[in-house]
Amino acid sequence: MKRKINFNPGPATLPVSVLEQVAAAILSYEDTGISILELPHRSKAFKAIIEESKDLVRELCGIDNNYEIVWLHGGGRQQFCMVPANFLPSGATAAYIDSGYWAHEAMEYAQYYGSTQIVASSAPEQYTRLPQWPEAIPANAAFLHLTTNNTIYGTQWHHTPLSSVPVIADMSSDILSRKHDYSQYALFYAAAQKNLGTPGVALAVIHKDLLKTANKQLPPLLSYAAQVQQNSIVNTANVSGIYTALLMLRWIKNTGLYVIEADNLSKAALLYNVLDNSTIFKARVAETTHRSLMNVCFTATSKQHESALVALCEENNIVGIEGHRHTGGFRVSLYNALPLHDVALLAELIQAYERSI
Ligand SMILES: *Cc1c(COP(=O)(O)O)cnc(C)c1O
Repeated sequence: MKRKINFNPGPATLPVSVLEQVAAAILSYEDTGISILELPHRSKAFKAIIEESKDLVRELCGIDNNYEIVWLHGGGRQQFCMVPANFLPSGATAAYIDSGYWAHEAMEYAQYYGSTQIVASSAPEQYTRLPQWPEAIPANAAFLHLTTNNTIYGTQWHHTPLSSVPVIADMSSDILSRKHDYSQYALFYAAAQKNLGTPGVALAVIHKDLLKTANKQLPPLLSYAAQVQQNSIVNTANVSGIYTALLMLRWIKNTGLYVIEADNLSKAALLYNVLDNSTIFKARVAETTHRSLMNVCFTATSKQHESALVALCEENNIVGIEGHRHTGGFRVSLYNALPLHDVALLAELIQAYERSI
C-alpha cells in the first residue's frame, strides 16, 4: 500500500526511518530476541532506553541538571490533571492564559483541584489571535499556565515575556520544533503524538525548585516526585511508546534542531504565502506574528470550494487536512516529520485549483 501524505494533527506523521526501526524492533528488539512489545519495563534494556532519552531531552532542550525528566501515561490531558494536583495548594489560585481549545480545557481540568483564574483570553476573538500577555498575575497565583502552540486555532507564541510566577507550559504541539529557551519554564510537558512519537505517552520536564513544593499527599502514579524517584516506572511503562519517542529524539538530533527549525519556517511560509495570495482560501490568523508554524488553519469562501479541495487532495494521496470539529475549514499540520516537498505539492494543488476556476 502506497504511503499517504499525512497532514493529520495528531497522531501525526512519523519519519519513515523511525517507522522502519519500530517495525524491526517489533520482531526483535536489538539483541534481546524478544519484541519491544514484550520487553520488561524493569529490564536493563529498557533502563538504557529511558536514560538515553533523558540525555537527549536534556541536550536538545538545552537544560541543566536542575531539571528532572519523566515519561508518563495519559497523554496531554493527564498533565492537565497532574499539574494542579501537584502544584495548586488550597488558598492559592492557578493563572491560565486562555489562548485556545487546549488552553481552556487545561484550566477546566484544574478546576477539579482548586481555584483558577483566566489572566488573558482571546476567546472574544474566537481565538483567531493570541491574547495580550497579562499585565499582572494575581499575587496568590501558584503558577501561570501557557499553551505554546494552539493546535486547533493555529496560533503560536514565538516569544513570551518573563513572568513573576513559575510558568508551566503545554508544548504538546511544538516541542523541539525550533530552538527555544526551555529554561524559562518551571515545568514543560508534551503529549508525544505530534512531534515526539505515538499517543498515550507524555514527556514532563520539571525544575527541582518547583518539585520541592509539590503536594506530598498524592498516589504515586500522579505524583511527579514519585515518578522522578522511580525513573518513570511507578507502574508498567509504555515501553514501545517511550522507545518510539527515543527514536524520534535521535532523529531530531541527527537532523539538527537548526535544520528542523529552518525547514519548519520554510514549510509554513510556503503555505501562508499561497493563502495570502489566494482569492478563495484565507488563513484564519491574520496577524503574521501570531501564526503557528505547526498548524496552518484556513477557510474557503464557499462550501463548494471546500469540498473541491478535499476531493483534489484525496485524488492526490493526501489525507488529514480537514479542520477540527470546532472550527471547520482546513487545518494542515506541518510537524517536524513532514517533508517540505509534501507541503509544496499541497501548495501547488491549491494554486492549480484556483487557476482552474
Ligand atoms: C493534542 C494536544 C493535547 C491533548 O493531548 P491528549 O494526549 O489527546 O490528551 C493537549 N494540548 C495540546 C496543546 C495538544 O495539541
